[in-house]
Amino acid sequence: MISIAVFIFFLLIGSFLNVLIYRIPREEDIVVKRSNCTKCKKLITWKENIPILSYVYLAGKCKNCKERISPKYPFVELLTALLGSYVFMRYFEVDQLKMIMFSIVICLFIVQFFIDLEHYILPHSLNLIIGACLLVLAVRDYSWQHYIFGFIIGFIPLFLLGYAYEKYKGQIGLGGGDIVLFGMLGIYLGPFNILYTIIFSSLLGTLVILALMAIGKVSDKEVPVPFGPSILFVSSIQLFFPGFLESLFLKFT
Ligand SMILES: [Zn+2]
Repeated sequence: MISIAVFIFFLLIGSFLNVLIYRIPREEDIVVKRSNCTKCKKLITWKENIPILSYVYLAGKCKNCKERISPKYPFVELLTALLGSYVFMRYFEVDQLKMIMFSIVICLFIVQFFIDLEHYILPHSLNLIIGACLLVLAVRDYSWQHYIFGFIIGFIPLFLLGYAYEKYKGQIGLGGGDIVLFGMLGIYLGPFNILYTIIFSSLLGTLVILALMAIGKVSDKEVPVPFGPSILFVSSIQLFFPGFLESLFLKFT
């Protein structure tokens, strides 16, 4: 019973995350305005706004103008419900502060993932909220050396590298949002695990680019490929399965 209620709760949260994914990069108001069809601007009624069910009921089309509704919307709702329920069930009885902070973090990871995929940005406002949640846990669970050096190692070298690259090549290599996100993650992961996160994110990001080139989706001419999704995927493993990537790394070196 409780797990069904939690699942539905996170479906509704997922519906709100869709609003954030759409509005934050467009700098639209996120709370006051009601949702409308992105094409014909008709307001969406509550009946058309029920997570997953409305998408099925509308057969993936706007009721008014028949514009196709992206399957991304029900996908984000389902993903949020699955991951949110997982966090709830894993931490509810053992660590409720962690449950709350990790729920917020995983929701914002989803928002960052889809914003970066489409707009090539990881908004600083979201990075800072992720950092604040992780800092609360880090202060409780670790020494100050852990979070200070974790932040420094996640942020400073890449910041200097990015700055130098921009200075000499006149273009942005690694996005500012990526660097800030590494800094925020370092607060909780600490100096060693943030290094593993940087290494594995870079490996995964490179594999993704090579795969996209192989299927002809991008050419080798400087097409921007978002790096954020790789960072977020690897950090999720680091947060929920600590030690896994480290053991993988040590096995191959
Ligand atoms: Zn419409």
